[in-house]
Amino acid sequence: MMESFRHDVIVVGGGGAGLRAAIAAVEADPKVTVALVSKVYPMRSHTVSAEGGAAAYVEGKGDSLEKHAYDTVKGSDFLAAQDSVDYFVEQAPLELTRLEHWGCPWSRNDDGTVATRPFGGMAVPRTWFAADKVGFHMLHSLFQHSLRFDRIVRYDEHFVTKLLVDDGAVKGVAALDIRSGAMRMFQGRAVILATGGAGKCFPFTTNGNIKTGDGMSLAYRAGVGLKDMEFVQYHPTGLPGTGILITEASRGEGGYVLNAEGERFLVTRDYGVGQKAELGPRDMISRAEILEIEAGRGIKGPYGEFVQLDLRHLGEAKIMAKLPFVRELSKIYAGVDPVHEPIPIRPVLHYMMGGVDTDVRGATPLPGLYAAGEVACVSMNGANRLGSNSLTECLVFGARAGREAVAYGRGASDGQEARLRAAAEEEGARIDALRGRKRGSEKIAALRSEMQTAMESGCGVYRKQESMQQAVSDLARIKSRYDDIALEDASKVFNTEILAALELGAMLDVAQAIAVSAAHRTESRGAHACRDFPQRNDRDFLYHSMVFHEESGPRLDKKSVTITRFQPEERKY
Ligand SMILES: Cc1cc2nc3c(=O)[nH]c(=O)nc-3n(C[C@H](O)[C@H](O)[C@H](O)COP(=O)(O)OP(=O)(O)OC[C@H]3O[C@@H](n4cnc5c(N)ncnc54)[C@H](O)[C@@H]3O)c2cc1C
Repeated sequence: MMESFRHDVIVVGGGGAGLRAAIAAVEADPKVTVALVSKVYPMRSHTVSAEGGAAAYVEGKGDSLEKHAYDTVKGSDFLAAQDSVDYFVEQAPLELTRLEHWGCPWSRNDDGTVATRPFGGMAVPRTWFAADKVGFHMLHSLFQHSLRFDRIVRYDEHFVTKLLVDDGAVKGVAALDIRSGAMRMFQGRAVILATGGAGKCFPFTTNGNIKTGDGMSLAYRAGVGLKDMEFVQYHPTGLPGTGILITEASRGEGGYVLNAEGERFLVTRDYGVGQKAELGPRDMISRAEILEIEAGRGIKGPYGEFVQLDLRHLGEAKIMAKLPFVRELSKIYAGVDPVHEPIPIRPVLHYMMGGVDTDVRGATPLPGLYAAGEVACVSMNGANRLGSNSLTECLVFGARAGREAVAYGRGASDGQEARLRAAAEEEGARIDALRGRKRGSEKIAALRSEMQTAMESGCGVYRKQESMQQAVSDLARIKSRYDDIALEDASKVFNTEILAALELGAMLDVAQAIAVSAAHRTESRGAHACRDFPQRNDRDFLYHSMVFHEESGPRLDKKSVTITRFQPEERKY
């Protein structure tokens, strides 16, 4: 019989958002137990790789909650939900301070106050950092703190494949124990998705291999809408070839972006970033780089054309104090030492603004289902996220979802065990049938690569109606071929092939949602830059796109934007 476990709250994902949610849940109620189910060991979650910093207001530095809120809403090109943004900016300093109490070693000024660095699109320096290994220190502090609670029970290397819904509410998950290959059932009163983003839908990304949109697909398949999926963020400073990120902190600390002629084009030419120059928002700088390359001012390299990031004028001492990891990455992966040479860079897919539709509490419209972190769209990033808001978002909304899930669970039931078990067993049978299924003529790797190509050419930095439509039809075809994939490996123990198959299934759901949302939005807003429709069109498009799963394919819908104190205006810097 299938092994089953019962906890009050099931958290799926052990990154920044998942760990924060789990801690908040057990702190909210001394009787509550939490299952922390994660496909990788928590410290291997993508949060660990964040470099630059986490944003929050600091007193006495010319900042205010209002300014942080305004920068975020403007950065979002006025698509952010302003109630979510207000809650975020207010909680941000409390969360970052709490994290310090749990051991996070924020870098400090000589006078002992917390150090902050400037980041793109932010009016004042409000990005807290721990050198340029911020994600590592944050995740480590969260993980260590979580170990204090016996009531957080970890199920590492368990891959969640299905949400168990009973009587209209989520009551658990079915998960594959990767080590044994056995399916297991996790029963609970509420489930929090904290599964991160989906950068691997694209070929050239800063994202780790595990970022395959699993949680977005789980919610989508259970009938929850995916919101604002067309808004995907390109980061302007990735290393050509690998896509490894050179953090925005390198521009925050004073780095220059140069073309082949050694010109600081963000200063000398009109790309809409104004005085901000290198500290303009990511969407605008990524576009400027593409336009420079198209104008023949890029540098040719083995991985296509690129521009450059110059840190030489900062000097070795500053680079070693503030950006040691940038130096290490550049030396190893680009063969240049930024103390002496500029770093080759180009825009690289980095982050999903869209995700599982939630309100400010982290609740989805499906009772019992919550989501937080990059998997969620609590709508604080709108059409373009500001760098360093997302680590803080994981803490603020992870904590909120944890508390809300506990409160919800008090009034909810466990669900009918026999029915849940039947659903989990059916899911187990589906996985068994897929494992080592040799009949089938399609290869996982080939379909994945076709999907990635379709996404890059259809939904890249600049988009065109025709290429977006092409991506929509290519993806529909790839998806139907997915039903015919062949798997070679029939073994149960650490079968990574079946994981790759499941991940590809999730990515295809997400990719389709991105392409369909993008193709319908005949305007340009934030990261969605449409060449045929270069203007923002508030009259027709000031709404969140929603995509729902239907047997016949994705169904589009819309949702209104919560606008309170900041009225939409032209986005100029
Ligand atoms: C290279 C890089 C640098 C960045 N730098 C910054 C920065 O400086 N500042 C900033 O604000 N943001 C930064 N970001 C963005 C930010 O780091 C992420 O958005 C954030 O860390 C996401 O955290 P998360 O908890 O939502 O997900 P993740 O940390 O990605 O964790 C996801 C978790 O879900 C689990 N999971 C996924 N699918 C399943 C499944 N099917 N079953 C079970 N478990 C599953 C995984 O095991 C993992 O534990 C950066 C991102 C990258 C890629």
